[in-house]
Amino acid sequence: MEHNTAQYWIERTQDHFVSTFTFDLGRYLVAAGALTLILWLAKSWADARRIQRRRPTRKDYIREISSSFRTVFFFALTGMATVLMIETGIIDVREEPVGMAIFTLQIAAIALAHDTYFYWMHRALHTKRLFRATHLHHHKSRTPTSWAAYSFSAWEGIAESAFMPLYLLIAAFFGVAYSDFAIFFFLGWMILRNVIGHAGVEVHPAGWVDSKWLDWLTTTTHHDLHHSEGNHNFGLYFTWWDRWMGTEHPQYKERFRKVAKPIIITKRFAETMSVTLVAMLASLASLATLGSAVGALPL
Ligand SMILES: [Zn+2]
Ligand SMILES: [Zn+2]
Repeated sequence: MEHNTAQYWIERTQDHFVSTFTFDLGRYLVAAGALTLILWLAKSWADARRIQRRRPTRKDYIREISSSFRTVFFFALTGMATVLMIETGIIDVREEPVGMAIFTLQIAAIALAHDTYFYWMHRALHTKRLFRATHLHHHKSRTPTSWAAYSFSAWEGIAESAFMPLYLLIAAFFGVAYSDFAIFFFLGWMILRNVIGHAGVEVHPAGWVDSKWLDWLTTTTHHDLHHSEGNHNFGLYFTWWDRWMGTEHPQYKERFRKVAKPIIITKRFAETMSVTLVAMLASLASLATLGSAVGALPL
């Protein structure tokens, strides 16, 4: 088919939508499903590290999953637009491999930019003017579960999904090309941190908040406190913005220490962890298979 016919571009657009929808739905289901399975397998450990006394209801699960499907739709739309912009040369994303240093630098730059975008967008959504129409839906999960990772209103879904194309457009404006694998890796990290933040069970090891090497990364307690009490802890991956802006929950570290109990290794725990490790490897393998199955550029 001629590359410049309308029919050609309609078909390309449809293909890209199907690929990005499959990838975004897949990464949500695999990540949230894998963490749910892991917490179920390690039930007694998870129960001891549960952050809130209140338990999520059936209604919470249904709302979180159904609205996450709507968010996947917006991610698929912006993903489709991104792939079309790559094909038409508006943004510069390449398939050829890059060195380890460039790869790391690209991921660090996207993560830093996304964390900043998220923090300020999140602060804006919490203003009186915007909260009801945009962010109230996400906060219906007072006791969130991993399935709340994408539980947004339509407006918030659009704002959340706009980051990647905007970032790549700015990069292209400054003449910076991106590796498709770095973007793929970042999208995996994004969903992983997101489902962990909503898990309701502190999965980070004891001592995390007391280590200067680790304390810059947020924990489950960090985001859980945002859901249970609001108005503090707006950050996504890193603790920096909340500290700079004075919005970190005053009892954050205390609450973390209370819930993140040190691990006592019993035979039963060792067995559970082996099964958990297999489940984690299986989910990573399914994510990678899904990525390659939906095309070379899984945006
Ligand atoms: Zn919020
Ligand atoms: Zn949340």
